[in-house]
Amino acid sequence: MDLQELLDNARRNEALLRRLQAFELQLLSCQTWFDFLTLLLDGLPAQFELDAATLKVCDPDGELKAAMLQSLDIEQGVLLNQLEFQARVPVIEASAVTPPPPWKSGLALPLLRNEVYLGQLRLYSCSDDRFRSGMATDFMQHLAAVIAACMVMVKQSEEQARLALTDPLTGAENRRGFERAYEREWARGQRQYHIFSMILLDLDHFKQVNDVHGHGTGDRALKMLCRTMKGILRPTDHIGRLGGEEFAVLLPGCQPDQLEAVVQRIQEAIRTMVVLNDQGRQVAMTASGSYVPVTSRPHSPLTLTQIIDHLDTYLYQAKKNGRNRFVCAEQ
Ligand code: GH3
Ligand code: MG
Ligand code: MG
Repeated sequence: MDLQELLDNARRNEALLRRLQAFELQLLSCQTWFDFLTLLLDGLPAQFELDAATLKVCDPDGELKAAMLQSLDIEQGVLLNQLEFQARVPVIEASAVTPPPPWKSGLALPLLRNEVYLGQLRLYSCSDDRFRSGMATDFMQHLAAVIAACMVMVKQSEEQARLALTDPLTGAENRRGFERAYEREWARGQRQYHIFSMILLDLDHFKQVNDVHGHGTGDRALKMLCRTMKGILRPTDHIGRLGGEEFAVLLPGCQPDQLEAVVQRIQEAIRTMVVLNDQGRQVAMTASGSYVPVTSRPHSPLTLTQIIDHLDTYLYQAKKNGRNRFVCAEQ
């Protein structure tokens, strides 16, 4: 190698190092799975003239996949097509690999953080001499170490965000979480399904349940209520705990003619759910509620508070007329 070649090489390396440093700074600012995965799977190939990046993720119990699915919007979920979740991902050293077609060369990088193996990042190129066996990979190994550290940070940050939006007793969304969900669904409703349904419900004589059977029994009833509703609703529906024993359910895309049936199922499930008191005796539960289909029109946004206030009037009627019933609210 003559002097000119050496100089050219050094300049190329310096330029690559700068780009890598800039990329690492972007990685460090990611707080959500969407930001992280977009940067890694779209940003990395774009900024380094690669043709694809994919991730193999160690996910023995499927928890990580579930957390990502929960955090990503439905449209954002396509990002997960570039991920492979495996119970065990083979441990590798950084090395050139034979890529799947149509790519001509590939590099596999281990993602390791504090000796925990998180998975592999794979980079692919359509040019057959981009990655060669025996090539120096120290820059890329450094990048992989930063990616692994960021992956752990994003996981923690997402978990904290989720906890801040979740009711610890029942696992339902808390008021803030439900508001957030409502805003997302309202925006999506305008683009996609245009109609959603909302149910408001409140357990009957719940104070008495606490007074007669104790607070522990009341808590068990609230937990069972949420578990029961989750069991009969779709994974894309939202359950929010708005207050003590008052819950709202948001059903994206649920049409008026389906809504009656869902309400009946909920009512029936509450009546037949098994809640035991401290002596092991069953405590009967009923709920009263109201429901309404809502059209998400582009130019007249309804706030969650407006819908809940409206439903509240009808819930009050249901209580007044003897409880254990659901009233359809005027649209
Ligand atoms: P109604 O049929 O009119 O709704 O009567 P109610 O007794 O259900 O309504 P009220 O609003 O009088 O009482 C609600 C009770 O819910 C009072 C409160 O102690 C209880 N509660 C609120 N949060 C919790 C909780 O987290 N755990 C338990 N065990 N009870 C709770
Ligand atoms: Mg009540
Ligand atoms: Mg109440």
